[in-house]
Amino acid sequence: MSRQPTAAQYVIIGGGIIGCSTAYHLARAGAKDVLLLERHKLTSGSTFHAAGLVGQLRSSANVTQLLKYSVELYQRLEAETGLATGFKQNGGLRLACNEERMTEIRRQATMAHSFGLEMHLISAKEAQALWPLMDVSDVLGAAFLPTDGQANPSDLTQALAKGARQHGAVILEDVTVTGIRMERGRVTGVVTAEGEIACETLVNCAGQWAPEIGRMANVSVPLQSMQHQYMITEKIDGVEPGLPTLRDPDGLIYFKEDVGGLVMGGYERKPLPWAETGIPDGFQFSLLDSNFEQFEPLMESALRRVPKLQSAGVRQLLNGPESFTTDGNFILGKPPGIENFYVGAGFNAFGIASAGGAGRALAEWVLAGEPPMDLAAVDIRRFGQPHNSPDWVRARTVEATSKHYTMAWPHEEHASGRPVRTSPLYGRLAAANACFGEKLGWERPNWFAPNGEAPRDVYSYGRQNWFDAVGEEHRAVREAVGIIDQTSFAKFVVTGPDAAEALSWICAGDVDREIGRVVYTQMLNRRGGIECDLTVSRIAPERFYIVTGTGNATRDLDWISRNIKPGLRAEVVDVTSGTAVLSVMGPNSRGLLQAVSRADLSNAAHPFATWREIFIGGAPAKALRVTYVGELGWELHMPAETAPGVYDRLMDEGRGLGVRNAGYRAIESLRLEKGYRAWGSDITSDDTPLEAGLGFAVKLKSNIAFQGRDALTAQAEAGLKKRLACFTVDDPAIVFNGRETLYRDGARAGYLASGGWGYTVGTNIGYGYVRNPEGVDEAWLARGAYEVEVAGRRMPCSLHLRPLYDPAMARVRG
Ligand SMILES: Cc1cc2nc3c(=O)[nH]c(=O)nc-3n(C[C@H](O)[C@H](O)[C@H](O)COP(=O)(O)OP(=O)(O)OC[C@H]3O[C@@H](n4cnc5c(N)ncnc54)[C@H](O)[C@@H]3O)c2cc1C
Repeated sequence: MSRQPTAAQYVIIGGGIIGCSTAYHLARAGAKDVLLLERHKLTSGSTFHAAGLVGQLRSSANVTQLLKYSVELYQRLEAETGLATGFKQNGGLRLACNEERMTEIRRQATMAHSFGLEMHLISAKEAQALWPLMDVSDVLGAAFLPTDGQANPSDLTQALAKGARQHGAVILEDVTVTGIRMERGRVTGVVTAEGEIACETLVNCAGQWAPEIGRMANVSVPLQSMQHQYMITEKIDGVEPGLPTLRDPDGLIYFKEDVGGLVMGGYERKPLPWAETGIPDGFQFSLLDSNFEQFEPLMESALRRVPKLQSAGVRQLLNGPESFTTDGNFILGKPPGIENFYVGAGFNAFGIASAGGAGRALAEWVLAGEPPMDLAAVDIRRFGQPHNSPDWVRARTVEATSKHYTMAWPHEEHASGRPVRTSPLYGRLAAANACFGEKLGWERPNWFAPNGEAPRDVYSYGRQNWFDAVGEEHRAVREAVGIIDQTSFAKFVVTGPDAAEALSWICAGDVDREIGRVVYTQMLNRRGGIECDLTVSRIAPERFYIVTGTGNATRDLDWISRNIKPGLRAEVVDVTSGTAVLSVMGPNSRGLLQAVSRADLSNAAHPFATWREIFIGGAPAKALRVTYVGELGWELHMPAETAPGVYDRLMDEGRGLGVRNAGYRAIESLRLEKGYRAWGSDITSDDTPLEAGLGFAVKLKSNIAFQGRDALTAQAEAGLKKRLACFTVDDPAIVFNGRETLYRDGARAGYLASGGWGYTVGTNIGYGYVRNPEGVDEAWLARGAYEVEVAGRRMPCSLHLRPLYDPAMARVRG
């Protein structure tokens, strides 16, 4: 008789640490009928050969919370299951060997404080006292995270598996999933050598095999196997069990204590991908050949740092493959276009550290059908068109992996896999000296270098080389007119006899308006959190045009299509590629457009928040009178092939009106001054419109039902516990990048979600939620004395509850 059941409610594929943690958390949360299938033995994928460092700090607050939870779990798991995990909380050290790195660790310490994680800055001498074997002659300082630790990955996985079984999960080894059965966009079961297992939900935790499992269900899981090496030494005198883990990012290396010896690994500048044409059959409990030549630069760094390694015996140079991703973050959640299929993969060599929290979050996601909190940083819907191409994914992943330990500069861009998506104006903007950035494959002008200067970012933690040029663009928009290529906007059309009814439910704003209206609205989850932030224009009785941020293309399309209520005759179509967008913004925008079009663009004929079909020469354009920069202006949406002609005419006619190209860095400064919110930082699925100060955009006063309404009503009655506010520090020597810690009356009260310089108001501007479990209102906010911590330094800052620029909207409506 087969030991394999014919059906299970939840099937997890993969018995690595992620699959076992997901099974543990599903079963622990009370899920009945959890079945984990492992093709060989538990841990036989990447898990058995992990080094086992357990760090916690990431650049996202919620991902850091997940990793903090991992530590909590690993501390109690042995008592819970009776199996040793090898976890010890020996702390983690991070060295800085140059001034820029010193600033980086200061900023990381501040970020840790923002996220409630202990991280202390210490001197080189203090670091050496914690790690006596190291040479600190080149060390300027260090950071110490006392709650970091290390574990034995295989033991930890076995303990999670035992815990899962204790709660009723079934784990079967030596069962390979060879196919997935689907019906009408849903998984109905999996196929194995022993037959089929029907299931209601399938979770793909197959590590570097996850893309292969994804393909069985037509799902793209963009990750790339990379070779990762570390060396294991014999015992070394002076290596004690309590030695903290050590990261020396300037040397590209890390260390951990291992039975009296050291494990030393690192991240090369030219990392090597593996299995470009597929993972060979039978690759279980397997390693790759040691590559001494590749490891040599890391070895040299290690010898400089720990001279005693010279005489240490080397037990092994281990080369294990691990899955990496294009942005260094792992992949979690429900891919677009499929109902009951989840992914937890691509752990970028921090899968052991992540497993506790990631497994819990994935289990909660599976049980609720939605993520337990904002996990956009790791959500599979953050990917877009180029991520479907294995070649593109490989090129970008190799680059991202090569930067694992290099400086994580503010505003840093990737160089690989470019260009892949360009607007029809790309050549013209390049000729105008644009410095492009890239988002979901799109080339977008970040800024324009002055004549004779190379359009190239020079990164630093201070003001970067583009600062003055962006100031010029900013001023052109404020004082004359700027033209911004925003072709990369994601654009959708919602059509059908029930389109208005469908959108009315999905949108918190009142979008069921007359043809010609443009409505700025949020789309909320059931908790009232902001899933999408976009504009909806009615273009026909049964047709709406939606414009949203470049980076939100996949996510927002998925959100809209999933939330059209069953039975309604409405569908959403992505029209991004056929439509170019030029934003014409500034006090002279009307004059400029009026010079190239016969359309009446006066306030009476074309007021704010409306759109009109206009012609520029022979080119038709939907002109949306909206703005994200706080000035009079129009977004021109037009057939892609007409954009070059329109752009040339605007630039020609605009000469006398002070027209100038502007880019995304200018937009950022302009929107900060005006207080426009940015999705992904100022507003996320964890924040409601009431908390974000966007109550004006919500139809709470109407009696129209919409998703999230009940949660907002309850919140309005109970009162807010956090509120987004604006903070400024005038000193131009300070630089806000976001994640700086906020203090109210001396106590930590939040952190900046976003920040930058406002050229018109002449100050650093940041937005952050101020939190108080007792409640937050404007009077309470105004009563506080505020400080902000930037790179370890606390300084007073001013609170503002109204936009710094044009609070009365006179310019926008002008
Ligand atoms: C050299 C090295 C050092 C590392 N060091 C660290 C570290 O210090 N700290 C840290 O946090 N992380 C570290 N990692 C990363 C860590 O090992 C991984 O992130 C983690 O093990 C990934 O776990 P997983 O469960 O996603 O994948 P895996 O462990 O690979 O598990 C996937 C499982 O799926 C199974 N499977 C695949 N296909 C099928 C199928 N068709 N049917 C059934 N089962 C299938 C496989 O057999 C495999 O067991 C390191 C990795 C490497 C390579």
